[in-house]
Amino acid sequence: MAFAVEVENIGHCYGELRALAGVSFTVGDGEIFGLLGPNGGGKSTLFRILSTLMRPQEGTARVGGYDLLREPDLVRRCLGVVFQASSLDLKLTAEENLRHQGHLYGLRGRDLQQRVELMLGRVGLADRRDTACEKLSGGQKRRIEIAKGLLHNPQLLLLDEPTTGLDPLARREMWSYLTLLRERDGIAVLTTTHLLEEAEDCDRLGILHKGHLAALGTPAELKQEIEGEVLVMEADAPERLRQGIQERLHQPAQVIGRQVRIERAQAHEFVPALMDAFGPQIRSVTVARPTLEDVFLRRTGQRWSIEAMGEAPAATAAEARA
Ligand code: ADP
Ligand code: MG
Repeated sequence: MAFAVEVENIGHCYGELRALAGVSFTVGDGEIFGLLGPNGGGKSTLFRILSTLMRPQEGTARVGGYDLLREPDLVRRCLGVVFQASSLDLKLTAEENLRHQGHLYGLRGRDLQQRVELMLGRVGLADRRDTACEKLSGGQKRRIEIAKGLLHNPQLLLLDEPTTGLDPLARREMWSYLTLLRERDGIAVLTTTHLLEEAEDCDRLGILHKGHLAALGTPAELKQEIEGEVLVMEADAPERLRQGIQERLHQPAQVIGRQVRIERAQAHEFVPALMDAFGPQIRSVTVARPTLEDVFLRRTGQRWSIEAMGEAPAATAAEARA
């Protein structure tokens, strides 16, 4: 398989702060690859590096076979970029925004017009070509951004948190567009996300935590590393409960916050024994199939729900201008 992207040992610091360390992975042609991580994980930093806005301090990458450091112009030809912050001129129409983008890539005349028509059709907005972008819905604006990114016919589309701010319906719609692009045009997609349900829909995932790639694989592969089921108990005195379970039932368990957590095959069959022995100490019990949240916990020792909170960093000036 040819690789749309090969990332090799990329590292980057902002002053004292290490934002990326030894990150390596590949994205195959026509693959939808997700970089999943909580805020501050390093996703946007990697994104800026791959889109050639910033040079990595360590390591390199190839995009479409071209070296990021030695051939950045050729790399830019191979990739389309959709930044986290909007890049549309809201006063201009959908078509005008696309024409401006085309000029940046040296497209003119009939070529440009054909490309613009094609892309408006691709994102299902041919009938909104003369609408000022400020009048489009959030989901439609995002689709125009994608059309912009695809105008020069790249092999790879880079997206930074493309569904931020969209409602669930627009989010699903946007995602089915990405899938369609991949299926119809064989375009590879590298997208960042901090949403677990979005990550589930990627062909492969890298989990980026504190600048390190904490996991790499298909969603199914990652979840398979957790055997059986996940049993979670809420308790007022979780450490006491964990000790009791260890001593009386010889079952290892983990305390996370107010929860006691057990991973084991057929965990549901273990519930009666737990309730018989420790009922008064247990507020609730849930048993579930492993999720990516469990994978994150297993790989990082931290809970996703706590890590993923916090404000998204403001887009950089360079992103806002792009
Ligand atoms: P993510 O996109 O996953 O939220 P970022 O790549 O934006 O992560 O940030 C990774 C880390 O680098 C964070 O700790 C963030 O505060 C820091 N950081 C990001 N951009 C800058 C910058 N321009 N200057 C200094 N620190 C930055
Ligand atoms: Mg980010």
